[in-house]
Amino acid sequence: MTTQKPRICIVGGGFGGLYTALRLDDLPWQPETQPQIILIDKSDRFLFSPLLYELITEELQTWEIAPPFEEILSNTSIQFHQDCVTNINLETQQVTKGSASVISYDYLVIAAGGKTPLDIVPGAKSHAIPFKTLNDAYRVKEKLRLLEESSPEKIRVAIVGGGYSGVEIAGKIADRLGKKGRIRIIDRGAKILDNASEFNRETAIKALEKRQVWLDLETEVTQVQSDTISLYYKGTIDTIPVDLVIWTVGNQVSQLTQQLPLEKTATGLLKIKPTLEALDRERVYALGDIVESKDVTGELLPATAQVAFQQSDYCAWNIWASINHKPQLPFRYQPLGEMMALGIDNATLNGLGLQLNGSLAYIARRLIYLYRLPNLQHQLTVGLNWITQPLVELLS
Ligand SMILES: Cc1cc2nc3c(=O)[nH]c(=O)nc-3n(C[C@H](O)[C@H](O)[C@H](O)COP(=O)(O)OP(=O)(O)OC[C@H]3O[C@@H](n4cnc5c(N)ncnc54)[C@H](O)[C@@H]3O)c2cc1C
Repeated sequence: MTTQKPRICIVGGGFGGLYTALRLDDLPWQPETQPQIILIDKSDRFLFSPLLYELITEELQTWEIAPPFEEILSNTSIQFHQDCVTNINLETQQVTKGSASVISYDYLVIAAGGKTPLDIVPGAKSHAIPFKTLNDAYRVKEKLRLLEESSPEKIRVAIVGGGYSGVEIAGKIADRLGKKGRIRIIDRGAKILDNASEFNRETAIKALEKRQVWLDLETEVTQVQSDTISLYYKGTIDTIPVDLVIWTVGNQVSQLTQQLPLEKTATGLLKIKPTLEALDRERVYALGDIVESKDVTGELLPATAQVAFQQSDYCAWNIWASINHKPQLPFRYQPLGEMMALGIDNATLNGLGLQLNGSLAYIARRLIYLYRLPNLQHQLTVGLNWITQPLVELLS
């Protein structure tokens, strides 16, 4: 190690990176091994993405689902740098930030997350909006606002992908637009929510039917233009008018991760040991959407917040163990079930022996996510707001 006290550099402050940093800060350290923890993210805010849909319906506001890092980390010893990491040199153990300054590390955590690939279909990059970041949500919201203001008879929205994101955004937009909305979900598969539990899929299908969301299954998008989308179905291409295209399909690792000289899968995900260390590099850990996540049993795991969040616990612990010459632990995944928003004040939940839908599931989903928000201070502020807001609205 280069310094007496180890320096841990964490790239990416999402579910993998931020929670690793917070957990590391919480662990018991001897004064002589107390590490310096540096968290770098290009954004100034952590994004709790499972609640991103609620921005579209204005059920929630930015400050609730995306608190600034400065605020979350204010009572910790974690140093936050808002900057884009442009290079990682594993030989010299240095991270280069956008402004060309360099940070040396003893331990590296790579948790830079994925992005939605838009270059698969002609026109998608220019005319479709992904739904992954705060900025994407603002773009969708603004586009809907402009469409609503121009008062057309119908507002036609095409959502590419019938996975969790596609279904959740469809429900929210359907409720926002009401009778004016003409919403369709396009998926190349024979059914939506291929990975979901039967209960959640059936509840979601009913919720979409109730909102008259159209399903184009076994259908592929071949082109997107400014006001049309072309769909291939059973040998025929149909080009239909559209006002807004939202792209929710795919997960691609960023250039930064792609260029690392580490072992990867065919799709570019980093291969890691059960301890979350890179296969061919000691003291380099990786987690979340950029890795091929596996449980200790070898079972492949999906790219979800639930996986990244649970990995963060192990990542922090294993770094602590490595510094303190203790054995590291293999990652054991605990499936806790799944939840989905299905429009305003409506959700479905299947997990821990519970199956709920409707407003009960909506309340349970909110409470579970409240508990998962990054720190107690933020949980309390948001929780208090959720309790008092209906009263304020009633009185105003
Ligand atoms: C709309 C939406 C809803 C979702 N809902 C659910 C859900 O209900 N349940 C669930 O389990 N999962 C859900 N997911 C998936 C979940 O959000 C991801 O699996 C999870 O965020 C992955 O965590 P991560 O740490 O790998 O990446 P992220 O959380 O994406 O964090 C990556 C961070 O790295 C930063 N970063 C990237 N590149 C750089 C760079 N070069 N320099 C500096 N910083 C960088 C980014 O700014 C970001 O903050 C949802 C995702 C989306 C988009």
